[in-house]
Amino acid sequence: MIGRNVWDGVVSAAADHGVSVTADTARPLRGGSINAAWRVNSNAGTLFVKFNDAGRHDMFVAEAAGLAELAQANAVRVPDVICTGAVAKKSFLLLEFIELQAGRNTAARRLGSALASLHACQAKEFGWNRDNTIGTTTQINTPDKDWVSFFWRRRLAYQLDLARSAGARRLADLGVRLNERMPLFFSGVTVTPALLHGDLWGGNWASCDDQPVIFDPAVYYGDPESDIAMTSLFGGFPPAFYDAYRAQRPDQPGGEQRRELYRLYHVLNHFNLFGGGYAAQAERMIKALLKE
Ligand code: ADP
Repeated sequence: MIGRNVWDGVVSAAADHGVSVTADTARPLRGGSINAAWRVNSNAGTLFVKFNDAGRHDMFVAEAAGLAELAQANAVRVPDVICTGAVAKKSFLLLEFIELQAGRNTAARRLGSALASLHACQAKEFGWNRDNTIGTTTQINTPDKDWVSFFWRRRLAYQLDLARSAGARRLADLGVRLNERMPLFFSGVTVTPALLHGDLWGGNWASCDDQPVIFDPAVYYGDPESDIAMTSLFGGFPPAFYDAYRAQRPDQPGGEQRRELYRLYHVLNHFNLFGGGYAAQAERMIKALLKE
């Protein structure tokens, strides 16, 4: 339940950004995976609000910054950000509400091209100007000029350390053996820092009027193929998406092995978030990668 005092905080924060929210019109939506979601009317149209505990305010600040970073690339539609705030034990993120439908072929094809354009936005270093979260797990984005070192230290090793702390010693011991093999996966390829959505599973894209929309990002600058890897982890992206993407960004030799390495990051994160069978899945993936 979102109390009256929380809505008062939303109304006041929105007013500071020139938006007049009508709290009485607020309706809960079927939730996302992590946050409580609501819609509410305003003088700037319908808005989408995500709520979590006050301690998660920084997560919403990082998400808002990520949406802004994606928006300035002007490659694919993202919801406009109104503001974030924290009030009475709750934090919130206030966004433009977009009438979303399941993305089908036309939108998927457009998403493939748009994502290739997004990936053409480059930075000087891997990482980003701030940390963020992947799910609710901290994602460290300390800049690094070397992709292999960044992906090992800030992605795989970070998740393996979390897994070890949670008692998954066998998984963590197996995983650290990948460290010395990392350069082999990248021999002969040059990776440049590209703007990534960072958490592009099938639940984080949809369409509006046949135009693709992406949301709930975990933005940083990294190997574009890590976004493609995530699309294939749980499905939800038809062949038209890959055809359009590959027309602009052909696959490189060894791409499938690198994508498996990138999927491993998300599987490890799923283990750290949800436990269960993800440990066995991660172990299978690591063993296969060690045999490459
Ligand atoms: P969570 O962070 O809890 O996973 P999401 O950002 O993924 O939440 O949003 C949950 C669901 O709400 C999405 O799957 C999508 O269907 C819908 N949604 C997300 N953003 C918007 C928006 N700006 N307008 C309308 N619906 C949205």
